[in-house]
Amino acid sequence: MNVFSTPVADSPGDVLQKHGGHRPNITERPADKYKALTRNQLEAISEYGNVTDDDLFAMRVVSAVLPFRTNRYVIENLIDWNRIPDDPVYKIVFPQRGMLEDDDFRRIADLLLREVPVQEVAQAATKIRNRLNPHPAGQQDLNVPRTDGDAFEGLQHKYRETVLFFPSQGQTCHAYCTFCFRWAQFIGEEELKISSKDAVGLHRYLAARPDVSDLLITGGDPMIMKTRVMEGYLRRFVDDPALAHVQNIRIGTKSLTFWPHRFVNDDDADDLLRLLDDLVRSGRHIAIMAHFNHWQEMRTDVVHEAIRRIRNTGAVIRSQAPLLARINDNPDVWAQMWREQVRLGIIPYYMFVERDTGPRQYFEVPLVRCWETFRGAIQQVSGLGRTVRGPSMSATPGKVEVTGVQEVAGEKVFVLRFLQGRVPDWVGRPFFAKFDPEATWLDQLEPAFGQNSFFFEDELRLLTSKEGLA
Ligand SMILES: *Cc1c(COP(=O)(O)O)cnc(C)c1O
Ligand code: SF4
Repeated sequence: MNVFSTPVADSPGDVLQKHGGHRPNITERPADKYKALTRNQLEAISEYGNVTDDDLFAMRVVSAVLPFRTNRYVIENLIDWNRIPDDPVYKIVFPQRGMLEDDDFRRIADLLLREVPVQEVAQAATKIRNRLNPHPAGQQDLNVPRTDGDAFEGLQHKYRETVLFFPSQGQTCHAYCTFCFRWAQFIGEEELKISSKDAVGLHRYLAARPDVSDLLITGGDPMIMKTRVMEGYLRRFVDDPALAHVQNIRIGTKSLTFWPHRFVNDDDADDLLRLLDDLVRSGRHIAIMAHFNHWQEMRTDVVHEAIRRIRNTGAVIRSQAPLLARINDNPDVWAQMWREQVRLGIIPYYMFVERDTGPRQYFEVPLVRCWETFRGAIQQVSGLGRTVRGPSMSATPGKVEVTGVQEVAGEKVFVLRFLQGRVPDWVGRPFFAKFDPEATWLDQLEPAFGQNSFFFEDELRLLTSKEGLA
């Protein structure tokens, strides 16, 4: 065993010992064969630790509204069951009472206690979800390209050089995060989904746009796809000259956290690595955009092996993650995570401000604290870790960095700047908002120095009305 890998959880054997040899009924399959565990297995899963009946009931209530899914790798290797409910990975994956507003919690709890038919619970859950802003920042309408009035579902083109693609087979994950802003993709309501099976459409769209240098495959988690499906989307880039201008291909994934076996033990792991290798050989930059929230996700032997195998293909792993109350709102957690990433050959890329969706009130951190956390963390790492940018809000006009808080001409202000903008000319221009210790998102900020609007607002209004949204 590598000296750096200290599994945080007891081994499955230890867990079984603790329970007097009673096998939770979820261990029938080998631990390295993927099997999703869902709401129906909550009771069996709770046997791994000291989950109280109240907590178990709360999880049932919350998971009636918000998606829940995990697997044995996560529960047996990433969670320290002696530290629940405070363990960070536990809170990343397991629903907690505070993730619903009190009224909503009570409504669902009451229905479950009265054992009403499931459809009735489902109806109440749908109502609650619809209030949780399933598609923040105009995701569903604003960024979808339209040709002859037809939206190309599953493709977003917000920034000139980068196209985002959501393959339909990649719209789920090896486990779900409780804070996920993509949660609407997982609950099976068709009208909330954005995705496409149309590989031909993707290739045609890109072939017609020489400005596009970057393709970002996202989800859900594209790494949930079988390699043969991934091939259908990506193999063309190896040898089609019409796609030569697409130089950088990123794949957004949390599989290094939730299922590193994808790159090591899955039946088609070797084929996947060969595909990455071929893409790299075709002269491209292939980036695995790994989502890590906490260093605790990066300590098993199998994740180290997965990282090593990916890097052997020539693909680069970059990391990005949101800042979340109760999980990683501490500069030391980020500093340790970035240091370990640098050591493992992963390049820290973005720290995000949590989006305005889902159980936001549970996770949100005021912008000023996001900045303090970022600053406190970046000061602790060497230059190799300072490739990371943020804290960044992915808002309607673009990615806005909270550069800092400063007093300028007697007024306390937020200094902000675009890291990425709907209009390329916005990028890199600092601007100022009145300081507000409670603000958690761009739309709560007001321009500083007596200005009526931010410099980009008129242009943004024009752009969004052109796209059919006032
Ligand atoms: C973040 C993001 C991108 C990629 O932006 P980079 O600055 O190149 O990392 C592309 N499209 C959307 C919608 C994004 O949010
Ligand atoms: S892995 Fe990503 S898409 Fe999947 S639940 Fe977590 S945040 Fe959402």
